[in-house]
Amino acid sequence: MKKAVIIGAGPAGLTAASELLDKTDIMPVVLEASDTVGGISRTVQYNGNRMDIGGHRFFSKNQEIMDWWTRMMPLQGSRSKDDILLGLDDKPLAPGGPDPEIEDRVILLRHRVSRIFFLRKFFDYPISLSKNTFVNMGLGRTVKAGAGYLAALIHKRPETSLENFYINRFGKPLYSMFFEDYTEKVWGVHPSQLGADWGSQRVKGISIAAVIKDMFNKALGRKAAQGDKVETSLIEQFIYPKYGPGQLWETVAGDVEAKGGTIRKEAEAVAINVTGGRVTSVDWRAADGTLTREECDELLSSMPVKDLVAALRGIDIPEDVARIARDLPYRDFITVGVCVRKLKIKNQTPVKTFDGRVPDTWIYVQERDVKVGRLQIFNNWSPYMVKDYEHTMWIGMEYFCCEGDELWQMSDADFIQMAVGELESIGIADPEDVLDSCCVKVKKAYPAYFGSYYELDKVRTFLDGIDNLWCLGRNGQHRYNNMDHSMLSAMECVRNLKSGIRDKDNVWNVNTEKEYHEAK
Ligand SMILES: Cc1cc2nc3c(=O)[nH]c(=O)nc-3n(C[C@H](O)[C@H](O)[C@H](O)COP(=O)(O)OP(=O)(O)OC[C@H]3O[C@@H](n4cnc5c(N)ncnc54)[C@H](O)[C@@H]3O)c2cc1C
Repeated sequence: MKKAVIIGAGPAGLTAASELLDKTDIMPVVLEASDTVGGISRTVQYNGNRMDIGGHRFFSKNQEIMDWWTRMMPLQGSRSKDDILLGLDDKPLAPGGPDPEIEDRVILLRHRVSRIFFLRKFFDYPISLSKNTFVNMGLGRTVKAGAGYLAALIHKRPETSLENFYINRFGKPLYSMFFEDYTEKVWGVHPSQLGADWGSQRVKGISIAAVIKDMFNKALGRKAAQGDKVETSLIEQFIYPKYGPGQLWETVAGDVEAKGGTIRKEAEAVAINVTGGRVTSVDWRAADGTLTREECDELLSSMPVKDLVAALRGIDIPEDVARIARDLPYRDFITVGVCVRKLKIKNQTPVKTFDGRVPDTWIYVQERDVKVGRLQIFNNWSPYMVKDYEHTMWIGMEYFCCEGDELWQMSDADFIQMAVGELESIGIADPEDVLDSCCVKVKKAYPAYFGSYYELDKVRTFLDGIDNLWCLGRNGQHRYNNMDHSMLSAMECVRNLKSGIRDKDNVWNVNTEKEYHEAK
């Protein structure tokens, strides 16, 4: 029987393993460097509370993916804890589906509410031309923003940078207020230095014109269904596993093992051995430092392209390929989980919430005097993420950084102290109300689109020359892939293996289509 070694037990690697078992006679052996499955989409558990790193909406325009998820975890058939507490009955439930109050293997249907926190006030996200926006901005800022927008309609800038991309769509004043600082927080680089392609992929269709169209649709009571042609930033419902994204990937991992596949945790791929243009084996290092060689017929890699090229042995790597891969930029990520008795911000929206709590799943923090970029409110993702849902709020404070920088090097205790200080300074919570906290660091959370990224094609061409090497997923392709696209790249790869196709274009071409993208 043929064997495929799969590097990484994130969404791409586990999808590949599961699909191989279901559709081919190739046996998967998954090597995972960490002690958990799920990759960036894992759920972190801390003292009974659960964290989702980044907040993972399960939403895809691809029906195959939506069906795959709900096959793995069926849609709820009864109300969840929060809806029961509120007496709400406004969600379509799956007849005969599991009851989340009793069963664990269940995916919930959730409403998305996310807003921008700026000037210590809430603005709609994406920014809307509502009365609330104008009142919050004040007359002076509103007039300036309007004039800037009109100026941008008349004078279009060449879209050579992300800055110009935003200014063309929103005008300079709105760009400065809502995009400039936040983008720099996320990428550590000013938007004038970033390529416009990031914007066109991630905020496709989001412009004042799209915002106005959405407002009219809402006013006319037209509801967009999942899968309809709808700008993805405006999607307001998503599905979500009872215990966060990692629960789904733990379920997939269990299924892979039950079907005979192997998943080795704490097994870091350190050398990829190539002979005659084919990968013959992978050397992996265990937690105790011992090295083991795993022979393979195919290698499916979701490890970062940078690390993959550095791990190749037995093949001459052209100098420019080595340089481009070595210099690929990434953005790293720190999340501080904070459990509080209560938040100081209260619900002032028409959405009905438990105990007058804010309804947001997450909040973009645009305030310039703090480093935190986003707040996740895990209670609103799934009430089951929180140990004591009725008496505590469990939130995640997200910081963008670079491995080794000042933020990265801070001790967990100092970091938490800074984060709690920021919560106080922007009026979100009082330090006296903090009950528990933890700090999670995530390397290479974002493959970045600047620097040597623009020469990535040369690396791809070189890697494609290794016949049985397949690059999958987010860092595996150095592409801003969400879970669905990471999974689709794995599915395309398995389709090729099943039908003996060695060409890899379809695997790389996932998520390059013009249609899709959600925005953050
Ligand atoms: C802040 C944030 C928010 C996000 N929000 C969403 C969202 O709302 N919806 C959505 O669909 N997606 C979202 N995503 C994207 C999603 O997290 C990724 O698309 C997905 O996790 C990528 O899957 P992957 O398997 O390609 O990579 P990963 O999840 O990165 O998994 C790769 C795995 O490979 C392992 N690995 C790496 N190197 C080695 C090695 N040498 N040897 C062995 N193992 C190795 C890693 O430990 C990891 O487990 C978000 C991401 C971030 C950072």
